[in-house]
Amino acid sequence: MITNPAVNWLYSSEPEASTNGRRIPVPRGRLLGGSSALNGMAFVRGQAQDFDTWAQMGNQGWSYESVLPFFKRMESYGGGGDDTFRGRDGPLRVTNPEPREPFFAAVIKAAGEVGIAHNPDYNGARQDGIAMSQATIASGRRMSTARCYLDPVRRRSNLRIETGAVADGLLFDGKRCIGVRYSVGGPRRGELREARAAREVIVSGGTINSPQLLELSGIGQPERLQSLGMEVRQPLPGVGENLRDHYAPRTKWAIGTKGITYNDTARGLGLVRQALRYALSGRGLLGSVGAPMRAFVRSRDGLAAPDLLLGWVPMLTEPGPKGPKIARQSGVTCYAHPMRPESKGHIHVVSADPRRPPAIHFNFLSAPIDATLTARAVRIARAIMTAPAMAPLQVTELAPGSDRDSDEEILDWVRGAAETTYHPVGTCKMGSDAMAVVDHRLRVHGIDGLRVADASIMPTLTSGNTNAPSIMIGEKAADMVLKDATA
Ligand SMILES: Cc1cc2nc3c(=O)[nH]c(=O)nc-3n(C[C@H](O)[C@H](O)[C@H](O)COP(=O)(O)OP(=O)(O)OC[C@H]3O[C@@H](n4cnc5c(N)ncnc54)[C@H](O)[C@@H]3O)c2cc1C
Repeated sequence: MITNPAVNWLYSSEPEASTNGRRIPVPRGRLLGGSSALNGMAFVRGQAQDFDTWAQMGNQGWSYESVLPFFKRMESYGGGGDDTFRGRDGPLRVTNPEPREPFFAAVIKAAGEVGIAHNPDYNGARQDGIAMSQATIASGRRMSTARCYLDPVRRRSNLRIETGAVADGLLFDGKRCIGVRYSVGGPRRGELREARAAREVIVSGGTINSPQLLELSGIGQPERLQSLGMEVRQPLPGVGENLRDHYAPRTKWAIGTKGITYNDTARGLGLVRQALRYALSGRGLLGSVGAPMRAFVRSRDGLAAPDLLLGWVPMLTEPGPKGPKIARQSGVTCYAHPMRPESKGHIHVVSADPRRPPAIHFNFLSAPIDATLTARAVRIARAIMTAPAMAPLQVTELAPGSDRDSDEEILDWVRGAAETTYHPVGTCKMGSDAMAVVDHRLRVHGIDGLRVADASIMPTLTSGNTNAPSIMIGEKAADMVLKDATA
């Protein structure tokens, strides 16, 4: 699905210095459930401090204490943990995969040797430590938002789901949003239709498409819109700004001991065995989360909370005709990156034509602290992979290569090789400052009857993956809509 145009918008970023002029793939789900229907299925909420920061920025009702009930309400977590933090009867089933492969036991031991303790519930009281990834997988099946939230209510008489429809403009009566114009009939602009709203319109197109739809509707930076011949309905300079993502180098390691990685156990006949295992038990590679193990780590002593994320995938991939495929060489991939990057990019339309993809500029590593922390994260990955507990696996560093030792040598490799972990946020930032797009109740500034509810409203990137906080935003938006409707 990572390369399939039938289910993926397949965006890519503009070339920039931090990528050595490369375009970085920006996959986004183009199906019901959005990116939750093709993501890596790791379930990570973030840290209490992430949400307390949002509240301190003036976003009333978004402190950790305020959002915790929504995190609990969304999930049915069967993996234990503390009821203070975990939900037991929500729509989204979250599980703990079993660490069957000996590789994971070795990494947990190796992390312990460099001072990183095992923490079985990083979505509980503390995030710190190394753990198997919690997953939006149950009985071997993906728990997308389409499956968990839409499927149970499909028969409601007041719900109509229209697929194959692309919204290309909002409808207004003055400063009030009264509906949506959309086209049906495939990716080329087909028949145009309108949907009218009795109360309000909620845009949930995600971090790439929500600012695009606002700009196409005349909400954004006046000079930019005018230069493209577009009418300005509401000047809002923050639309499309404040883009943040995790720029994540993938360190690569050869494993000499046989039978440890999926390169050995999931190729040829091994793949048949994996398919059988999946069919019988829902487990193994085919029932697995994208990166089955992760560590939340502090770059230095004295920090209040972890600032780096490392994730392990027990295999190497290589390019294939239909996208990445399992490589012949046996090995391990470990990505490592700062969790709360300060570098900010932007996404803007380049044409009034809704079919033209917007231009995505990440500006990775433009904040010096991001470069420092990225090099530090790679070094911590190296320390774990070369700790004594890993010796029985016969580990050799492939990338960046042990000869790249200084920050500059590591960053030089990062610029030529890193990609994101697909967590863009922030382009319709929530807040009350001049660059904010929505207020703390997710209402677009200056327009009545219009909310944005998706990852684009995050003022900062949360500490980890973004599916769980995006669903929390959806839960909280639903609560606001209901409260406003009955007020
Ligand atoms: C490959 C990949 C792997 C990931 N792995 C993980 C992971 O393991 N764990 C994790 O927590 N997060 C992961 N994420 C991120 C996570 O899935 C997203 O942060 C989350 O889904 C964002 O939710 P959203 O509602 O903001 O946007 P999306 O989920 O992208 O939903 C937007 C929806 O709007 C639709 N849309 C957009 N524009 C229009 C339009 N004009 N008209 C009609 N419909 C439109 C899209 O088709 C899509 O269905 C991953 C993402 C990707 C792409």
